[in-house]
Amino acid sequence: MPDAVNPFESLQEQIEDAAAYIDADEGAIERLKNPERVLETNLSIELDDGSTGVFRAYRSQFNGDRGPYKGGIRYHPGVSRDEVKALSGWMVYKCAVVDIPYGGGKGGIVVDPREHSADELERLTRAFATELRPLIGEDRDIPAPDVNTGQREMNWIKDTYETLENTTAPGVITGKAIDSGGSAGRVEATGRSTMLTARETFEYLDREITGASVAVQGYGNAGSVAAKLLEGELGADVVAVSDSSGGVYNPDGLDTRAVTSFKNETGAVSGYDGATEELTNEELLTLDVDLLVPAALENAIDGELAADVGADVIVEAANGPLTPNADDVLTERDVVVIPDILANAGGVTVSYFEWVQNRQRFYWPESRVNEELERHIVDAFDGLVECYKTFDVPNFRTAAYVVALRRVLDASAEAGRWP
Ligand code: NAD
Repeated sequence: MPDAVNPFESLQEQIEDAAAYIDADEGAIERLKNPERVLETNLSIELDDGSTGVFRAYRSQFNGDRGPYKGGIRYHPGVSRDEVKALSGWMVYKCAVVDIPYGGGKGGIVVDPREHSADELERLTRAFATELRPLIGEDRDIPAPDVNTGQREMNWIKDTYETLENTTAPGVITGKAIDSGGSAGRVEATGRSTMLTARETFEYLDREITGASVAVQGYGNAGSVAAKLLEGELGADVVAVSDSSGGVYNPDGLDTRAVTSFKNETGAVSGYDGATEELTNEELLTLDVDLLVPAALENAIDGELAADVGADVIVEAANGPLTPNADDVLTERDVVVIPDILANAGGVTVSYFEWVQNRQRFYWPESRVNEELERHIVDAFDGLVECYKTFDVPNFRTAAYVVALRRVLDASAEAGRWP
């Protein structure tokens, strides 16, 4: 089992590491290590059997110096105040690293959605949207999907907000279904930026991605799309994938489309008949592969496990999958780690495109979405490499935080202090 690391402490450590390379006022850095505000609320709804269910929920608005707060809403029994604070901070630095005009926010409800009917989840989502109403808005705070939420929940939040405000405001939330104002390419965006950063990394390292072996931990939205595109667009061999049920392995490469169909039918990758072996998640994370893509949850790899990681490149599709100890061990071992705040930034970047299209009431074809996304990700990757070389930082994570922190500090300084 990985160490019980508090993700908020990980975030603060990552900011401190980067701040060492920046000439900035201590107070200015301290401000950027903590959220501006956190809403904590208890949502009570009627359950299907007539009883009352009470659910703790949070929304953290971390920093808004570069634009409206932006970040997803997660439904998971492990959601906590500190997890939401950490995720909201990572959003600030993610938006800054890909240079889109947003601050960072995040929300979550402590709930296991598998234990509730669609009707209960709708009541819960609408109750949360009602609590969020004074905080969110197209120019204020724009939620999006995260773990266990998707288009359905986004559509409910949009509808609740618009009904209460007596207006139309599709840009109040992103990750919507296309018919409700969503963007082409949004569902695939996080997996696509993961694939693009893997491609750029292998090119930077002068290594072939075609035929490279890949393991993906977490076969959900981010992981399954990353696997499909790594295989389909770059010709990599995805040899292992996993979800919370366990993993499957085939040294000759899995057919990722077939694995996805199998998971859609059965709810798990485990049992897929194109595999030669079943694996535990720990076995998957330590496989001897060219590229490892953690795409599940935080703290998947701690310091102890990092010593056994067999890949020499890690591209983080999940948020915060490595503990700070794991980072130290992997840096020491010269494993190249491309940080979450760049690799999975495709989700928020296409959310930004969705918001732009909503504001203009003018919708782009998928080809334009993918082209603009590629431009943002490739530019951000180049900026990270330049920073890595210029500042002599120990790894790409610190480089990404140096780039991002400087942008946020500049925006704060230009805004001045008031009151
Ligand atoms: P998801 O719910 O679609 O998928 C998560 C997957 O991880 C599921 O298949 C689940 O079974 C699996 N999983 C859970 N615990 C696991 C474990 N211990 N070992 C292996 N697998 C496990 O969620 P998602 O949207 O794909 O998000 C995954 C990660 O990507 C999260 O960290 C999220 O914050 C991050 N992310 C997602 C997006 C997005 O647009 N979806 C954007 C940015 C970052």
